[in-house]
Amino acid sequence: MVAEAKAPIIVCDNLVRIYRVAEHDVMALQGLDLVVKAGELMGIVGVSGSGKTTLLNILGGLDRPSAGRIMVNGQNLLKLSNSALDQYRLNTVGFVWQQSARNLVAYMSALRNIELPMTLFGVSSRMKRRRAEELLDLVGLSDRRNHKLSELSGGEQQRVAISVALANKPKLLLADEPTGEVDEANAQRIYQIFKGLNHELNLTTLIVSHDLNLAKHVDRVVAIRDGKVSSETLRDQRPRGDGAEHGSTFTELIVLDSAGRMQIPKELREQLGLQRYARLEVVEGGILIRPVDDHPGHGHDTNSVFHETDSAPKETRLQQWIRRWLKRGDES
Ligand code: ADP
Ligand code: MG
Repeated sequence: MVAEAKAPIIVCDNLVRIYRVAEHDVMALQGLDLVVKAGELMGIVGVSGSGKTTLLNILGGLDRPSAGRIMVNGQNLLKLSNSALDQYRLNTVGFVWQQSARNLVAYMSALRNIELPMTLFGVSSRMKRRRAEELLDLVGLSDRRNHKLSELSGGEQQRVAISVALANKPKLLLADEPTGEVDEANAQRIYQIFKGLNHELNLTTLIVSHDLNLAKHVDRVVAIRDGKVSSETLRDQRPRGDGAEHGSTFTELIVLDSAGRMQIPKELREQLGLQRYARLEVVEGGILIRPVDDHPGHGHDTNSVFHETDSAPKETRLQQWIRRWLKRGDES
């Protein structure tokens, strides 16, 4: 049982997603590697535009990668047919979006909203009702069961959205900025729910946010920069299930990709004046990275090269000479 819990449920290997926008390619994921073990409660952070939603949509079967490999719960998502991917979305994942309205129907009651996805599975009315009531209880909203969604606060709607995402007993819960539009008290409550679900059901949960405070609520945080995993923050110790506060010391580790590349955070690069070149020195117990400021290529504006080649090609000296020579022939 324990060995099973340690098996990876997600393996992303060199994942690439390119969007084509008006003749331009946007590389939203640039060779992303990620392994998530079954039962993990983890966070994915990164600034806006770093590729978080793109990754989540691919994990949720809403989008397909352009290249790379991705296995979720033993299924190779690149090889699934469209109908198999539909099944995957229904059976394997639960999704919570930033705007809860995306999963919910405003004019239906909280209970009906939770029953709705179960309808697709032909679950009996009695079973649907029972499970919907359990799920509402799980998020602390039993007393709001007959309220229409439009009669609930944003935070309460988001809690109903979590219940809806759980209705089909997913193996994996994906949440994209779930606390982005709720107040602090509701955000805390939502994180408590995710923690509770993870403890009680051992539900693998990935929470995406641009808020670094997310680290306080999960066991591991992966930071994405420019469509690649750049660092991981691990909680040093975590007492489980005894109601105690989580361990609060973290270690941030830089991630090396399979080719040995790593990203040096922008703040550090700026602090050290690191630009295009650096020198690596092996020192006792580690490697020292020093900025280089006397390299001939240092400070060269690569853009200027592209501007030159973008415009009409320049004549070589030989071409200029031939042109002048031919002209002279015309004149004589
Ligand atoms: P995040 O969720 O971290 O803010 P996204 O995954 O939404 O980032 O976006 C990553 C990059 O891909 C951004 O540069 C964004 O503009 C681009 N992008 C996202 N979705 C699309 C799309 N449907 N079409 C074109 N470009 C997109
Ligand atoms: Mg996003």
